[in-house]
Amino acid sequence: MKLDRLLAKHQSMGRNEARRRIIGGRVRVDGETVTSHDREIDRFTRVDMDGEVVREPERLLRILLHKPVGVVSATVDAEHTTVIDLIDDPDKHTLHIAGRLDRNTSGLVLLTNDGRWSKRLMNPEHKVDKVYLVETRDPIPDDAVEAFARGFYFHTEDLTTLPAELEILGERSARLTLHEGRYHQVKRMFHRIGNRVTALHRVSIGDIRLPENLKPGEWRFLK
Ligand code: URA
Repeated sequence: MKLDRLLAKHQSMGRNEARRRIIGGRVRVDGETVTSHDREIDRFTRVDMDGEVVREPERLLRILLHKPVGVVSATVDAEHTTVIDLIDDPDKHTLHIAGRLDRNTSGLVLLTNDGRWSKRLMNPEHKVDKVYLVETRDPIPDDAVEAFARGFYFHTEDLTTLPAELEILGERSARLTLHEGRYHQVKRMFHRIGNRVTALHRVSIGDIRLPENLKPGEWRFLK
């Protein structure tokens, strides 16, 4: 919402009057005097006028969690422990998950109450890298690297996966970097080369890495 609209709404005044007060230097946004009326204000922004609070900001939560195997990426589940159950914060009910993992996948999960941030991270157009460590049932042949780079056609979605970087680490282990996040994508890609994923772990999303000292089940606020 624009600053003048927010002021008009919260102070029961017309938009012209709100603009006059903004131009007059009476309004502060996050502690700084702002004189342009079209400044965008979100739920996490503090607004004061003449030294009085117009609107208290909501607490911005951005959390990184080391999801253990067996925990579901959901906010509620009748049967299993959820990622939310692992968080100890009075405002945890406001959180949503940015990028789910399967129940038997471990690693980095981001939780937030900031919809814009999670949308930006998960928007396929932004092609944010997701890096996984994969273990497989059968040896991974060298030509898998090229197959992953070419992409696989997924019939259900009628699309070809974006080029992905597969780095073979051992006979049955690899690091895989994806630039999108489709349903069961890693498992389906390995299935397409006649193999099977036996363990899957996400180590990063964009430039957010799972800290090495964060144990399964532990979480921390993202700075
Ligand atoms: N791809 C999968 O198959 N599973 C996950 O949990 C994440 C990516």
